Amino acid sequence: MRIGILALQGAFTEHEKMLSKLGADSFEIRQRADFTKEISGLILPGGESTVMEKLMGESELKEPILQMIQRGIPVMGTCAGMILLAKTVIGGESHLACMDITVERNAYGRQLASFKTESEYGGARIIPMVFIRAPYVANVGQGVEVLAKVDGKIVAVREKNMLACAFHPELTEDTTVHSHFLHMCNTMNC
Ligand code: GLN
Repeated sequence: MRIGILALQGAFTEHEKMLSKLGADSFEIRQRADFTKEISGLILPGGESTVMEKLMGESELKEPILQMIQRGIPVMGTCAGMILLAKTVIGGESHLACMDITVERNAYGRQLASFKTESEYGGARIIPMVFIRAPYVANVGQGVEVLAKVDGKIVAVREKNMLACAFHPELTEDTTVHSHFLHMCNTMNC
């Protein structure tokens, strides 16, 4: 299994480390040519969604990423990655606009509003969650499963082949979210 990680900006190396800890191969996606490699799943990391949007446009990656998601390849967006996936963005513009969620950008305030907490994920276990200038999900469409909430706000969701969280699971030692994503990659690929 090989997971592609969008590596234009942001916290992509931490995802690579987490995947290798779980025994999964990954490769960085910086240009269209990188998509020639076989891919079982795609990670859109945290960082700055507006910068990623600009770089995706410049490197002509937006269209192939969207096509891949529409083909049903599993995708995981963390923080800015979640913003990229959302159909509606409060406090910003929508980008890939493929997931039926409304997210509020910088919902906890700006730079200083970073915090660490713990909450239940997927009704199964309590995991650590690191939030950095994070969004939260203000609204979900009908086919969207809510996987986690913090203080009543939705912070992790799944819709078909798309998994998204407002926090940074790659910045903790806990492997729950990445294991969940790899399970999707194992079971959803033909
Ligand atoms: N606030 C950032 C944005 O709007 C996201 C922050 C993050 O990914 N840690 O893109």
